[in-house]
Amino acid sequence: MTIYPTFIAPLFDRYFPLPDGELKTSIEKLAASLSYPLTKLYVVNGSKRSAHSNAYMYGFWKNKRIVLYDTLLSGMEKEKVQKLYEEAGEKIEETENDKKRGMSNQEVVAVLGHELGHWALWHTTINLVITEVNLFFCFAVFAYFYKWDALYTAFGYNDTPPVIGMMLVFQFVLALYNQLSHTAQVVHSRSAEFAADEFAAKLGHGDNLIGALTKLGVDNLSMPINDSLYSWCVHTHPPVVERVAAVRAYQKTKKQ
Ligand SMILES: [Zn+2]
Repeated sequence: MTIYPTFIAPLFDRYFPLPDGELKTSIEKLAASLSYPLTKLYVVNGSKRSAHSNAYMYGFWKNKRIVLYDTLLSGMEKEKVQKLYEEAGEKIEETENDKKRGMSNQEVVAVLGHELGHWALWHTTINLVITEVNLFFCFAVFAYFYKWDALYTAFGYNDTPPVIGMMLVFQFVLALYNQLSHTAQVVHSRSAEFAADEFAAKLGHGDNLIGALTKLGVDNLSMPINDSLYSWCVHTHPPVVERVAAVRAYQKTKKQ
């Protein structure tokens, strides 16, 4: 997590600081209003790899960075970034469809309002702790079971290579736990997504977030309608329709 963004990711893609302009100013203002220690703001040509749009943040303690995919941008901001890449000798090829993609500056800021919500609400730290505890538990179970001869005999092994033990413990002994913990993680992740949306709406970005989510749904070709039970079991990120409805419901309660 420390080494990848700074040393490995730049081997595959070029990262440029986001050019000066309205977008950069609004993002910096948003970060400052939340006391988010933003040190660098980058843009990367995600369009080279996929048409999916994205934004993410990384960094520990007081050294945080935000990365925007060029597919999120539109209009002047997009042109400025394309010029940067052209000057660096990298041509960005766009189809007619690509040209229609992207968000307004205010929508990009709303998306970052959501991302910064994850940070402000401690989601990143909580998730890290959950992952570590989960890993510790799984290996504790492995340590307990892998010397157990009956396990190997039951699956027809006479000697006991630990690699086979790993497979048996992680796939069979922990099968029920894996299913339950996966579902719990999906439920947890979904509630975090809704909370981050509400965080952005509280900052006054509700309408722009709805616009942004709708465009993301279209640009990323996500399935518009899902069975709600299926969605509760599988989607770590709730579908756009549900998220838009939740933001609207929040805005309604605020108006009353
Ligand atoms: Zn999120």
